Amino acid sequence: MQLRYTVKEKKEMTKERVSWETYFMNIAKEVSTRSTCDRKHVGAVIVRDKTLLSTGYNGSIKGLPHCNEAGCEMVDGHCIRTSHAEANAIVQAAKNGVKIDGSEIYVTASPCYNCFKLIANSGIKIIFYNELYRDQRIKERAKEVGIELVSLEG
Ligand SMILES: [Zn+2]
Ligand SMILES: [Zn+2]
Repeated sequence: MQLRYTVKEKKEMTKERVSWETYFMNIAKEVSTRSTCDRKHVGAVIVRDKTLLSTGYNGSIKGLPHCNEAGCEMVDGHCIRTSHAEANAIVQAAKNGVKIDGSEIYVTASPCYNCFKLIANSGIKIIFYNELYRDQRIKERAKEVGIELVSLEG
């Protein structure tokens, strides 16, 4: 029996297949929609061998009110209530006993200095980011420790 497809389904099938980089960045963007700080929505996914290992978005301490409920906790012009997406992705891996040494991370915005340190120390080798966010120090540090920093902007 021949399968029948609608015109829309046929169009979907012939559409160019997205690259792995686009695929995982699209997932990171989707993850960012769970963020609870309206100052910035960030999503991160950790990947190895084309396999999704962990996800994270910026949100407050588990069980405590979020920025969108209690307001942001501002210090020096930054909201410090949330744990960042990259940190939460690393924590989720640790919590579940998932090895992330030698993996890659996809983040919708490039890591802050603190998250960069966590990424470096967790053995992640490549950082794909969608938008360069504030901290330029990470470019220098990435070079020094041999982490690849790849922009997927646009
Ligand atoms: Zn906030
Ligand atoms: Zn951060």
